[in-house]
Amino acid sequence: MSEPSRGPLRHFTCVGSYERCQAACMEPDRYRTLLALPANKPVIAMGAGLSLAGAGFSSDALTVDMRHFNRILDLDQEGMTLHVEAGATLASLFSFLADRGLMIAVQPGHPGITIGGCIAGNIHGKNQYRIGTFADLVEEIQLFHPAHGILDLNRQRHADVFELTVGGCGLTGIILSARIRLHPEAGKSCHVRHTPVAGMQDAVQQMKGQQQHEDFMYSWHDVTPFGGSAGKGFLVSGRFEPGTHERNGWRNHRPLHHASPWPLPVFNGLSLPLINGIYRRLKQGYAGTEDLFTSLFPFAIMPSYFHAYGPRGFIEHQVLIPDAHIVDYLERFLALAHDFRQSFGMVSLKRFRGERKLLRYSGDGFSVGLHLPATPKAIRFLAQLDEIDTQFMGIANIIKDARLPASVVAAQFPEYVQFRERLATFDPGRIFTSMLSRRLAL
Ligand SMILES: Cc1cc2nc3c(=O)[nH]c(=O)nc-3n(C[C@H](O)[C@H](O)[C@H](O)COP(=O)(O)OP(=O)(O)OC[C@H]3O[C@@H](n4cnc5c(N)ncnc54)[C@H](O)[C@@H]3O)c2cc1C
Repeated sequence: MSEPSRGPLRHFTCVGSYERCQAACMEPDRYRTLLALPANKPVIAMGAGLSLAGAGFSSDALTVDMRHFNRILDLDQEGMTLHVEAGATLASLFSFLADRGLMIAVQPGHPGITIGGCIAGNIHGKNQYRIGTFADLVEEIQLFHPAHGILDLNRQRHADVFELTVGGCGLTGIILSARIRLHPEAGKSCHVRHTPVAGMQDAVQQMKGQQQHEDFMYSWHDVTPFGGSAGKGFLVSGRFEPGTHERNGWRNHRPLHHASPWPLPVFNGLSLPLINGIYRRLKQGYAGTEDLFTSLFPFAIMPSYFHAYGPRGFIEHQVLIPDAHIVDYLERFLALAHDFRQSFGMVSLKRFRGERKLLRYSGDGFSVGLHLPATPKAIRFLAQLDEIDTQFMGIANIIKDARLPASVVAAQFPEYVQFRERLATFDPGRIFTSMLSRRLAL
């Protein structure tokens, strides 16, 4: 087989724009093109390109855009599993499954995300406290590596490669397809409530008390007033209901063209305190019924949020802090934000339950999620926050933070070295590389 053409150089940027580069790219639409990839040249798979770090591209690697591989291969309705190609998007599967009273229970915030991206990023939704993360739904993976051929992976067969692939950021090879465990559709609509909270610690207490009674729960906070009221906000809780199946969100959702930001940063250090204050007053106390799609994918109908940071973009930082340390951690976080007069586009808490493993973002505790305009001050702020995260036994979400250094990941993840070694054993040539893998020395 002759080597596939690498195509012209394309400009790639992560959501948030912090990591970007030009790279060769191919968009194969048949297996024989994929299977002709050479075993000695750097390569990386890409799904929808909706990661907040440069996880699917690198200037020296060929990006393989997998979106043409998007077919449903088999639905086992009785066994409640779906065998699907890796390039299928959550939006395309939502409608197919809803018609049959089924759903994928773990859904990240945007419907354009692919199954390959969900597996490689071990993504979470809003209900990981009850359902777990995407790793818990993956039953089998068909993986292609040019040096190994096609491998069928599950928890028994090639279990080591299966473990490395789930949450492995595409570094073991190209996921061709996967069998995913389904759940009965949770409801046709969702009753959403925004309950005011006095601060982040208050949100933690309320989530601990109420989480098990809600289908999903997360919080939103206004951290810009820098005074005693810093952290005021609301809990967003949702209960699925039978209702009618108005798919308004599904009909109205739009692709996220994150590579074309507005020419000026409307979200900046001056405007964000004002915008957050207005948003909090508008949203707190809201209660209403939404269609299921809208409640699962709140970002799907507001792509302008991402453009409003302007050409410099933004950084997402997410850290998972164990329950025992969260209250003290939040005190240190708020003090640091106060000292820096740091502005945020978003501050949110989610509760997690699960097992810490390899480099996956999973475990017991509270996840603190931040969006910051990508200014030099924010980078200095995050460098100090990394130290506090590590001190409080936190782990950062590696697929979300485009500036996270290798030293921090090595200090936070007890299995960092093990991940590297196991990867090198499977693939001594280490041909799957990305900006993320180079930055994290993986
Ligand atoms: C608006 C928005 C909301 C989000 N909300 C959440 C959320 O709630 N929870 C959460 O966890 N994440 C969330 N994310 C992050 C997102 O879910 C992950 O970054 C996800 O991995 C992106 O998938 P993708 O299809 O865009 O893949 P890409 O960004 O293209 O790639 C992501 C990684 O997956 C690998 N990959 C993709 N396809 C394959 C394949 N076929 N074979 C092997 N590797 C592959 C790539 O190499 C790369 O390492 C959100 C992102 C956005 C933009």
